[in-house]
Amino acid sequence: MDNKADFVQLIKDRTDILDLLTKDLKIIKSGSSYKALCPFHEEKTPSFTINVQKQNYVCYGCGKSGDIFSYIMEKYQLSFKEALEKLAKDCNIVLSKSIANGTFGSSKNTKYYNKVMNYITLYYNSNLKEHLKNNDINFLNKKKISLEKIEKYNLGLSTNFNNLESFLSKKSISLEYLLENNIFKKNKYGKKYDLFTNRIMFPIKDRYENIIAFGGRSLGDEKPKYINSWENNFFKKRQVLYNLPCLNNIKNRTENVYIVEGYTDVIAMESKGFKAVAPLGTSLTIEHFKLVWRFVNEPTLFMDGDNAGINASIRALDLVMPELRGENSLNFIFLKEDKDPDDIINGSERTYSLSSLLSNKQSLIESLFLLYGNEEVLNSPERIVSFKNKILTKIKNINDPDIRNLYRSFTVNRINEISKTQINKFGTITNNKRKDNYFTSLIKNKRTENFVIRRERSILAAMINNLKLLKQNDEALAKVYISNAELEELRNVIIDIISTEKILKSEDLKKSLLGKGYEAFLKKHFQTKDCIRFDLVEEYAKENSDINYATETLLNILSIQEKWYQRKNKSL
Ligand SMILES: [Zn+2]
Repeated sequence: MDNKADFVQLIKDRTDILDLLTKDLKIIKSGSSYKALCPFHEEKTPSFTINVQKQNYVCYGCGKSGDIFSYIMEKYQLSFKEALEKLAKDCNIVLSKSIANGTFGSSKNTKYYNKVMNYITLYYNSNLKEHLKNNDINFLNKKKISLEKIEKYNLGLSTNFNNLESFLSKKSISLEYLLENNIFKKNKYGKKYDLFTNRIMFPIKDRYENIIAFGGRSLGDEKPKYINSWENNFFKKRQVLYNLPCLNNIKNRTENVYIVEGYTDVIAMESKGFKAVAPLGTSLTIEHFKLVWRFVNEPTLFMDGDNAGINASIRALDLVMPELRGENSLNFIFLKEDKDPDDIINGSERTYSLSSLLSNKQSLIESLFLLYGNEEVLNSPERIVSFKNKILTKIKNINDPDIRNLYRSFTVNRINEISKTQINKFGTITNNKRKDNYFTSLIKNKRTENFVIRRERSILAAMINNLKLLKQNDEALAKVYISNAELEELRNVIIDIISTEKILKSEDLKKSLLGKGYEAFLKKHFQTKDCIRFDLVEEYAKENSDINYATETLLNILSIQEKWYQRKNKSL
């Protein structure tokens, strides 16, 4: 069945409007028709009326009317084609290939364009495989991109314009067509050219798996590192994300989707089983977020840890704030300096595991405080007020009144908390031996501090779990600066225990800590159920890990901690 009208009829036959709406609305019978509170406008008495005979609805309050298709389109912000897909899936109808791949209803143009793009992909792909028979490509090795991944993502290698031109002419693709669609261009001397010479090619697909453009990564350090195809009728950067087809497999609006910076981050995330998309080397736009929101409520922005990444997070925050709704939000993961998701997954970085990073995502409101509070030192009433005003100004941009009000009251409460903490600190300042550090605000460098506390927890976890490591390095561990007061106390107690009690295995140490009343500390910092098993600790901190490896890792972490402490002192 390739006919669109037949399909529409079939879906109508199998979907009763009352069944469909009952999933979302509380429907009451009223005479010969049914009524409900309108899902499209706010009301107290039902004016949304459903006519079962005609299989349609009309709202006498806001005027919206339609059938099952318009309801789904309106509710999920889908196109007709997408609504058709969704309803077909709901009633177990398998769409024929021509409808499912989006070519139905579209002109012959699209089909032909797809064909050309497929040829080019094939050409690049066989170039790459041919090249790899006798050569290595550093970039691919570094990013752990295997032949299997090359096939999965249809990666390729561009060589030069002339080769591609002659390949396409053998396939009878006319030069006019290529020029018309900005696949090739002609300069003012009539010389034809394209964009990609000696680049790793990443085909960019639309939601229906059709290749519509390419991103090219230079083989070495040549600039620009990444370039994308020129835009045309089929390809608009602002509306496309790399790896869009992964969204089709989403079953549930609460699923996680990560928005990362680059193609290789997407590939790395997917290799660990996470769904990820990326903008095409351009800034994120609100269209990008709206696209992802059509599938999930709260995607997570996971940018690189450098300044560009932080700025991208700030921009994203500004973009999405006006659009926040009950079902549209955004979470954030902040990486430390100069790391990207791919480094964490494929690099030698072993200090932070991917799963602990991902579980430490920040809500939008947390991120608002972190990103805009970064430079603030909240140690005077004037500064606290100025910080508060800055946040409240941002909150004014939220269009949804309920959400705006909640953000406002959350902020006011939070600032009150901060003021209280600061006042307490002024009160105790003279009694404290590390008084300098108490001037650092709660907010300043909060982002770094998240990593610091994770690092400090890691050190403590190693002390608790790896007795051999602890005993061999007790002096260094006793000396290292620990900024978190609870963890510092825990460290001191542990050092005390091993020098005064008979401790033969880690188990004894844990029992002694519990006996001394440290259960709450342990639960808080290590999130274990019984405070005895620490399955979540890093490799080096485990009792059975190789002692040389463990020592090396520990000393490495201690030296990072030391450097951080010196930097922190200098900046005060
Ligand atoms: Zn209405």
